[in-house]
Amino acid sequence: MRCDRCDNNAVYHRRYSGQKFCKDHFIGYFEEKVKRTIKNYGMIEPGERVGVALSGGKDSITALYLLNQLNDIELFAIAIDEGIEGYREKTLKTAREFCKENDIPLSIVSFAKSFGKTVDETSGKNACSFCGVLRRRLLNDKAKELKLEKLATGHNLDDETQAIMLNYVRGDLDRLYRLSNTKRSEKFVRRVKPLQEMPEKEVGLFAILNFDIDFSECPYASSSFRTGIRDFINDLEKDNPGIKFSIQRGYQKLMPYLDSYPRKDLKDCQLCGEPTSGDICKVCDLLKK
Ligand code: SF4
Repeated sequence: MRCDRCDNNAVYHRRYSGQKFCKDHFIGYFEEKVKRTIKNYGMIEPGERVGVALSGGKDSITALYLLNQLNDIELFAIAIDEGIEGYREKTLKTAREFCKENDIPLSIVSFAKSFGKTVDETSGKNACSFCGVLRRRLLNDKAKELKLEKLATGHNLDDETQAIMLNYVRGDLDRLYRLSNTKRSEKFVRRVKPLQEMPEKEVGLFAILNFDIDFSECPYASSSFRTGIRDFINDLEKDNPGIKFSIQRGYQKLMPYLDSYPRKDLKDCQLCGEPTSGDICKVCDLLKK
């Protein structure tokens, strides 16, 4: 199999477009598309202080690597140690090494120190809900402390379509709306997702071609409802190459309608003062339980 653009062997056949890429042309295409996504969505402006939520996995390392190529921004990395034995130590090691090699300041914040409890201590019960809510809080707190204007995450196209479908299935219009990164409170640092148009398979290949990275998955991932949604979308994609892009485009067409959907105003949590739609925020609620 030859590359469409030169005589070299192809390393990737993109089923949804039929194109074939050699290593160099794949890397060139990938970097170009991510930079175009950042520009098209107005994600980052020159001179901004930008953080990357760094897990040490393929997605966040790729996002950090590409943002590090942008001139005129100040770049920081924030890693969260949720306390997941046998998994998080490995990815944090990768994160530390990558930041050291590339001279990027890294802050590591732990659940144990911040909340006195780790994900492992939830005994696996609702681990992902506990983890997701508390991690978002720590990332936002650290981003504010570092005075960041934007916080980039490594979410790829697959993550995006899974989140869209998950919220469709649950009928959760509020969360569906929030996926668009609309900033609902001055207390939230705006999130951006430079890889949101890159399929997970392509991010994985880019990482393999560029970094020495561990591909192990969090032990709690297989038990989540989201995994069922992921498998469902991947099955659809097998017979309908490009369906993930259709799901994303459909969601973007819905956005203007979601924008007019009545939402509760945010107020300050009675316990910690962070924004919430109820009296007590999710973080305080989970910690109380
Ligand atoms: Fe946290 Fe669940 Fe992700 Fe593991 S799979 S890091 S527990 S949200």
